[in-house]
Amino acid sequence: MMHDESNANVPTARVDVVIFGGGCAGLWLVNRLTSAGYSTVLLEADALGTGQTIWSQGIIHGGMKYALTGEMTRAARMIAEMPGVWRDCLNGGGEIDLTAAQVLSDHQYLWTSKGIASKLGAFAASKVLRAAPRPVDSAARPAPFDDAPPGVSIYRMDEPVLAMALLLEALRRPCAQVLLKIDEPDGVQFEQASDGLVRAIELRDEAGRSLRIVTSCVVLTAGAGNESLCRLLGVDGEVMQRRPLHQVLVKGRLPMLFGHCIGGLSDKPRLTITSVQARDGETVWNVGGELAEVGIARSPNEQCDACRRELQRSLPWVDFESIRLSSGMVDRAEPRQPGGRRPDVPFAKRACNVITAWPTKLAFAPRLAGDVVKMIESAGIKPTAPDLEAAKDWPVPSVAVPPWEEFDREWT
Ligand SMILES: Cc1cc2nc3c(=O)[nH]c(=O)nc-3n(C[C@H](O)[C@H](O)[C@H](O)COP(=O)(O)OP(=O)(O)OC[C@H]3O[C@@H](n4cnc5c(N)ncnc54)[C@H](O)[C@@H]3O)c2cc1C
Repeated sequence: MMHDESNANVPTARVDVVIFGGGCAGLWLVNRLTSAGYSTVLLEADALGTGQTIWSQGIIHGGMKYALTGEMTRAARMIAEMPGVWRDCLNGGGEIDLTAAQVLSDHQYLWTSKGIASKLGAFAASKVLRAAPRPVDSAARPAPFDDAPPGVSIYRMDEPVLAMALLLEALRRPCAQVLLKIDEPDGVQFEQASDGLVRAIELRDEAGRSLRIVTSCVVLTAGAGNESLCRLLGVDGEVMQRRPLHQVLVKGRLPMLFGHCIGGLSDKPRLTITSVQARDGETVWNVGGELAEVGIARSPNEQCDACRRELQRSLPWVDFESIRLSSGMVDRAEPRQPGGRRPDVPFAKRACNVITAWPTKLAFAPRLAGDVVKMIESAGIKPTAPDLEAAKDWPVPSVAVPPWEEFDREWT
């Protein structure tokens, strides 16, 4: 909802920047803006990371996908830098301290059966990839490839994989005092001038209390939620596209596996698998790749059946007796591309004092935050001290629960 009258009776806070949405993009940005001296609040409609970030497979890509399709572009070079930026943060020497995050694996494998080995060899030699895959000696194969037949080629790639809930927690902690839970859309009103300038945002919580936040700039990092926020603010709401994925969670007595099965006619990995240990001690595989892309028209049961078949085909030497499966649909929210193609770079666009942003990949969150900080600086907005006294008892958001820990999730 929108109105343009200021309400002097409502408790008022003042900050330089208001961020909507606390997934990896919004949380990275709030940390960067704080380090740059800007006063901020981040408004979250649900739990932090709900949607894409908590479902993410956690891979800090360095460009393998581009190398597979042979596109050695500016985008490939940009993403090749990202694992190094993240590693610096994970080691405590980067722009954000992520030493509290968990690296599930510091590498992944690529594996295939026949015929694809020469292509793998070609991009393994690529100069663009900083984490270029290296062939794994057949005499020193790690689990679960130690039982694989000799025809299976295996490459190792030094791109890290992170646990999402712990990453969200590591990003939340340093800025916890500026995160506010909102009741969206009913509990949010914008005070907007006729030229589109947002002057303030008025919040109402479930108990009926109000809070007004006066600001110089609004940043939308709400993932799929950006679409309705853009419409509400009169910013081009047609700028977003959704590309759904039908992920499969596979639970049981399984080895930890981080990797991509390459093969078939497509350039895309048939399966991309990352692993976590669930709270009950069992292993969970988060399975994506081509299976998740082509599976969007399948019912949950059909998708789980397709996943069982694909696992047997891709890892025939692994024992899948104990597994139970569950699936979930999640939209990738991105800037609109011609023909609905995959965007290759992060996106941020300013209209008046509203910036709309999507990282397009978890790996690009630092790059996006850097771009948005530069846009705010170049808009002439100067850092000022926060005035957040009025917000001090406002409800705060929690971190999203990983999909495999949801108490009502059904497994077949
Ligand atoms: C299944 C899957 C696997 C992926 N795996 C990888 C991977 O391995 N590596 C990689 O680099 N990328 C991966 N990605 C892409 C990556 O996850 C996303 O690009 C990234 O998480 C997007 O983050 P975000 O913060 O923009 O959005 P989100 O994570 O969707 O966060 C948006 C936040 O905004 C909140 N929100 C929504 N509406 C509103 C509103 N109106 N007001 C306030 N808050 C609101 C939501 O509750 C949420 O907390 C994957 C994506 C999917 C779907």
